[in-house]
Amino acid sequence: MTIDLMDAQGLSEAHAAMRETARRFAAAEIAPVAAELDESEAYPGEFYARLAAAGLFGITVPEALGGAGADALAYALVMEELSRGYASVADQVGLVELLGTLLTQYGSPAQQERYLRPLLKAERRCAYALTEAEAGSDLGSLRTAARRDGEGWVLSGAKLWIHNAPVADFAAVLARTDPAAGHRGMSVFLVDLDSPGVTRGRKEHKMGQRASPVGGLAFDEVRLPRDALLGPEGRGFHMMMSVLDKGRVGIAALALGILMAALEDSIAYARQRVQFGKPIAEFQAVQWMIADMAKDVQATRLMIMEAARLLDGGGRATLAASMAKCFAADAAVARTADAVQIHGGSGYIRGVRVERLYRDAKITQIYEGTNQIQRMIMARTLLA
Ligand SMILES: Cc1cc2nc3c(=O)[nH]c(=O)nc-3n(C[C@H](O)[C@H](O)[C@H](O)COP(=O)(O)OP(=O)(O)OC[C@H]3O[C@@H](n4cnc5c(N)ncnc54)[C@H](O)[C@@H]3O)c2cc1C
Repeated sequence: MTIDLMDAQGLSEAHAAMRETARRFAAAEIAPVAAELDESEAYPGEFYARLAAAGLFGITVPEALGGAGADALAYALVMEELSRGYASVADQVGLVELLGTLLTQYGSPAQQERYLRPLLKAERRCAYALTEAEAGSDLGSLRTAARRDGEGWVLSGAKLWIHNAPVADFAAVLARTDPAAGHRGMSVFLVDLDSPGVTRGRKEHKMGQRASPVGGLAFDEVRLPRDALLGPEGRGFHMMMSVLDKGRVGIAALALGILMAALEDSIAYARQRVQFGKPIAEFQAVQWMIADMAKDVQATRLMIMEAARLLDGGGRATLAASMAKCFAADAAVARTADAVQIHGGSGYIRGVRVERLYRDAKITQIYEGTNQIQRMIMARTLLA
């Protein structure tokens, strides 16, 4: 069953075509193996080569740099559809978009050649490394540092819970380059993860989105060439934050994909499960959970479209992107819990999709800025 809320809004032909490509790929290729990937925690590298070939990697990166040259709305549509198949796969597309945007905006032609093009062909894998043991929401407490050494740099420190750390070829690493300058004393480095002095921590076992590997990265006096510095020295914090508006629209769309899958399964199950001589869909208590789910799908989609419209128009999207991410993530967690409830005991059993959706949804309230941090951003914008 396909539920298409908002189709009346009308998408351009190009947007509809991109959504259709992602939808077909998700339904035919991703969804059938999602439970298996959740169980095995395997990294489905073959999907990414095919997504890259289908033009679904680097969606907003200009064509001249190897991307699809599309806009933020296209990115959101693709993220939703892929996530409806399996959030872990969308998650990887979101990570590539984040790095792709960073390299497009700040990379030198040589850095784009070395990192961006192979990334968009799925020949090299990336990581985006900010978080540390003492620096989660509070990135001002960052300890990883790089000091100048002749022509180049020496990097030391440790990152944790970094997407792709177990499999990435390179990472964009946020490090302190001027300890006295606070947020203005941080810079971004492109680090090849086979460099001497780099070690990878163990792969973590996660609650959900288990096919996106997460782990630590440690840097022990890692020597970096001068051109490992991405963008201007001292602008790293600003650069990493500047790509997060689009990133948060992507996470909102990923959460929306999870919501859509929960809604589809809840409707199907409520129609076929009979208790007290009738389908449970005839009980008002169940109907209202389904109605609330659809209401949140619709509201989430409108918020995402608005944030994407602002991004595509070049306006300030921070408030809209934080609102969309926060709303979508809260809705995904609450409504997947309802979906489990509608499924009764079967919703608690491994292999039944809503059980996985519930687990997959939770991290959307935590990564790319927790939902408490999103509320802080909203309040700061409103009260400025
Ligand atoms: C699966 C997974 C993947 C991840 N991927 C990456 C990645 O690729 N790259 C990367 O750099 N990081 C990544 N992270 C890290 C993630 O971004 C952080 O976990 C997140 O930013 C929160 O930091 P923390 O876990 O240290 O929580 P803390 O910052 O310690 O927060 C703990 C709690 O306190 C709340 N809190 C903190 N400060 C405030 C405040 N001022 N006001 C109100 N409440 C507050 C938080 O909202 C949270 O509820 C990942 C984490 C996970 C679990």
